[in-house]
Amino acid sequence: MKVGIVGGGLTGCIIAEYLRKKGASVTVFDSLEKMGASKAALGLIAPQWIARVEDVDLGMEALEEIGGGGLVEHLDFEIKNPVKNFRQQIMRFNTQALVYGCEKRWDKVVEVRNQKTLVFADGDEMTFDIIILAAGIWCNAFIPELALSGKTGSTLFALASDNAEVKNKIEMYAPFKQAVSFQSEGFVHFGDGTSVKEYKEDHLKRTIDRASRYGNLKKHYAVTTGTRPFSTCNPNGVFKRVGKTLWVATGGAKNGTILAGIWANKLGKMI
Ligand SMILES: Cc1cc2nc3c(=O)[nH]c(=O)nc-3n(C[C@H](O)[C@H](O)[C@H](O)COP(=O)(O)OP(=O)(O)OC[C@H]3O[C@@H](n4cnc5c(N)ncnc54)[C@H](O)[C@@H]3O)c2cc1C
Repeated sequence: MKVGIVGGGLTGCIIAEYLRKKGASVTVFDSLEKMGASKAALGLIAPQWIARVEDVDLGMEALEEIGGGGLVEHLDFEIKNPVKNFRQQIMRFNTQALVYGCEKRWDKVVEVRNQKTLVFADGDEMTFDIIILAAGIWCNAFIPELALSGKTGSTLFALASDNAEVKNKIEMYAPFKQAVSFQSEGFVHFGDGTSVKEYKEDHLKRTIDRASRYGNLKKHYAVTTGTRPFSTCNPNGVFKRVGKTLWVATGGAKNGTILAGIWANKLGKMI
């Protein structure tokens, strides 16, 4: 089975790695769009976030299977919210290692012809048995009816040695808005969720301000900003078959990691 995946973010890479393990011949294409969601993704899978997601077990199974090389870890968090504070173990999938480590070709796909052929910016073409569109908000370019818009958020990364006092913490600062900070593999991560439709300097300033208040992130940090697909009809991302050999799989708010695992598992059984 020859599978072509358009988009090498979290969804495309998780599906690719899983299908490769199942024996498919998979090629992932990515055009390196600057605001891809996955570069900013923290990869956390918190029990309260996934409470209403169906088939979580399928996702866990797929993530554990491709994470066998050490991509999955379990972190202890302090959760602070207006109702009560508590501690919780939260699973983390190392999205950065996968997004930067997954084998892919840096090509821009400009057209999907007859559901089987990808046409590239330089005019080349390649034909597959199955095509999966995992191109984030850019899926609209292929299927405008998806009508995806974006929600943007930033993550700050720093070397842990400069930020020794950072605790693993999730802090609600307004309804549905949370600041997340944690240390893992020598790095401090600070995420501010996704809230605005367009990236703006003043939003980033607020994120940096929150990072210093809630995350104690003081200096020498790098910022990554990403836009995740958003649609009121599809808060849990888009996963659907749009033709005999064509699928869309992308997005999924703060549950993008587990949803990609679920979709990978389902695709593995269907194709
Ligand atoms: C700040 C932030 C924190 C988050 N934290 C978490 C978290 O803790 N846990 C969690 O599970 N989720 C989290 N998410 C959500 C998660 O990041 C998204 O749900 C997920 O990354 C969506 O991935 P995707 O691969 O579908 O889309 P994207 O990451 O947007 O990837 C799409 C890819 O397609 C490529 N592309 C676009 N057009 C073309 C084309 N024409 N040809 C070839 N390639 C193309 C782009 O370059 C891009 O790499 C977070 C998101 C943000 C922004």
